[in-house]
Amino acid sequence: MRSFQFYNPTRLIFGKGQLQALQTEVPKYGKRILLVYGGGSIKRSGLYDQVISQLNEIGAEVTELAGVEPNPRLSTVHKGVELCRTHNIDLVLAVGGGSVLDCGKAIAVGAKYDGDMWDVVVREATPEGGLPLGTILTMAATGSEMNNGSVITNQDTQEKWAWFSEYSFPAFSILDPEYTYTVPLDQTVYGMVDMMSHVFEHYFHLDTNTPVQLGFCETILRTVIDTAPRLIKDPENYELRETILYCGTMALNDVLNMGLAGDWASHNIEHAVSAVYDIPHGGGLAILFPHWMKHNLDVDVDRFKRMAINVFDINPTGKSDKQVAEEGIEALRTFWTSIGAPSRLADYDIDDSQIDVMADKAMRFGPFGFFKNLQREDVVQIYQAAL
Ligand code: NAP
Ligand code: FE
Repeated sequence: MRSFQFYNPTRLIFGKGQLQALQTEVPKYGKRILLVYGGGSIKRSGLYDQVISQLNEIGAEVTELAGVEPNPRLSTVHKGVELCRTHNIDLVLAVGGGSVLDCGKAIAVGAKYDGDMWDVVVREATPEGGLPLGTILTMAATGSEMNNGSVITNQDTQEKWAWFSEYSFPAFSILDPEYTYTVPLDQTVYGMVDMMSHVFEHYFHLDTNTPVQLGFCETILRTVIDTAPRLIKDPENYELRETILYCGTMALNDVLNMGLAGDWASHNIEHAVSAVYDIPHGGGLAILFPHWMKHNLDVDVDRFKRMAINVFDINPTGKSDKQVAEEGIEALRTFWTSIGAPSRLADYDIDDSQIDVMADKAMRFGPFGFFKNLQREDVVQIYQAAL
């Protein structure tokens, strides 16, 4: 293992009926709340009314920012920052999926930064503070509820980047599996692909002596694989939603990467596709991640073989290591296809016309990936294989 520090200050409030925790959490930070939400799912599900009623109970003054887009945009962050300043906001409360939470993080940090928040996203400035952020998560996917990552899209430059800071951890996050019952089938699938991809980003590392971390990863992967087909058939099953919601949080709350550096190239490659074509993140990952795996199989055949055997129950008898490893990658593709995830860029009508543009965007900060440091030609090859 490499040396590490673990720091995660988010209070995670998980379970049925936990929304009432708003009444104890919110007053810790103040009365003036910026309520941030998406395109209306929380109004349709009734969650919006419940949140407002809880906030009324404690006499909160609520300002609203509605309409956060999937793949949240910098222009929306700017609107939120402006509202924080005009209304002297004490707490940003983001209610929705990962996009709403990520937007909330950028607003909370942007409100304490004098320049354009995009400077922070593209690492040209380091934030020195942020407003406190509370979240109520409605969709299992990103882990944003318990990490300090946020992914923002700049529509003007067609760029999408993740940024991180000491000040972008939620102070508290409320997760009630019942709020995820209404997530549409396609988004439920994208969410499960995204959380599995987060685990893979950790699983493929070159640090040694990480048996606990590898075992944690395999447990989460096996759990999602076991749960997903049942959840798709039974979307209002509390226990299945609960399991998947917990998997999403554990997949990216920094527990899995203690003592190791995960790869993260596939996320970079996907973000460039989403930036240009505005496709769902999980859909893009389902297409690209198996191609990243095939491209990098020879970096550590044993790790891929281990995945094949421990996660996908591939029988290694009479096969070469490489054969077993390849069967594992095929099994992943088969599994994702079986739950309805896309498998080719053509599924989103994406052809080869923008490959150079996407590769240039992905390469903005130079070669990337800790398991395999990818050069531009690697990225182009992965896009081409995924067409
Ligand atoms: P999302 O973009 O937040 O939401 C997708 C769609 O699901 C939206 O249309 C949303 O509708 C709807 N939705 C959410 N909850 C719902 C519910 N309970 N019932 C019905 N509809 C619901 O999806 P996401 O996958 O959670 O977030 C994706 C974003 O997160 C991407 O930009 C991705 O790059 C980023 N990401 C962040 C991290 C991180 O660590 N921060 C990690 C990976 C990816 P409404 O808009 O109407 O609510
Ligand atoms: Fe992701």
